[in-house]
Amino acid sequence: LKRQMEHNGSLSAIGQLAASIAHELKNAMTSVRGFTELLKLSAEGDSVRYVQVIDSEMDRMESLMAEFLTLSKPTDQEDEVFDLHKCLGDVVTVMEPQATMRKVAIFMDNQIGEAAPVKGKKHRMKQAFINLIKNALEASGEGTTLFVSLEHYDDDHVVVAFSDEGSGMTDLQIKQVFLPFFTTKQEGTGLGLPFVLETAESMGGHLFVKSELGKGTRIEMLLPVHERSQAQAGAEGAAVLTP
Ligand code: ADP
Ligand code: MG
Repeated sequence: LKRQMEHNGSLSAIGQLAASIAHELKNAMTSVRGFTELLKLSAEGDSVRYVQVIDSEMDRMESLMAEFLTLSKPTDQEDEVFDLHKCLGDVVTVMEPQATMRKVAIFMDNQIGEAAPVKGKKHRMKQAFINLIKNALEASGEGTTLFVSLEHYDDDHVVVAFSDEGSGMTDLQIKQVFLPFFTTKQEGTGLGLPFVLETAESMGGHLFVKSELGKGTRIEMLLPVHERSQAQAGAEGAAVLTP
């Protein structure tokens, strides 16, 4: 619990910082954009290329800032009970084209064979799954497979596992992956896994990382299954009694 609180604390601090800095940055960027447009009108020779570089780097800055803001912003969405299998399936469908582009196969396996109801923010969970699949794809080479599975853990818990055959990580890397801003990528934000961990912990779950350099990585999200509501149990009881 202490760790969870420390964690939530650090992410919400980032959120506040992000909101206040974002406003200033946007003003500055609008001004740079404006002067870049003016430069375009008079640019000649090599300058034309330089202005293009400024333009595309500005695009990159804007998308990095957008990602940073969504990941650090607390959502006002309400908790709901949703089916983990359907949620996972939706995300895999969305990510399939990116996998195909990288020549990575995604293999999905539902070992539970029934609905897995969990309670939390569905949108955040989707975002978390997207992050995990993105990470796996970014680490994977052509011709490898990403295994996504929904597994039974015990009567009250399920596990969502993402196993890739990618680059893997060193022990030192594994220790750092949940630190905000830790990244080994040139265009990384280092906010993906902290966000995923926060999502799992906010639902009473946890995240486990197993990785071997050069072999691959397996990330497991353990989540408590939502107990059947009174209403549901009542309805089923009634159905049994009906002749
Ligand atoms: P980002 O993807 O922006 O770098 P993340 O928080 O999503 O930030 O991930 C942090 C780091 O953890 C990555 O830069 C990478 O080094 C490592 N990592 C995460 N997932 C994997 C994976 N499936 N295989 C190998 N390394 C990974
Ligand atoms: Mg990431």
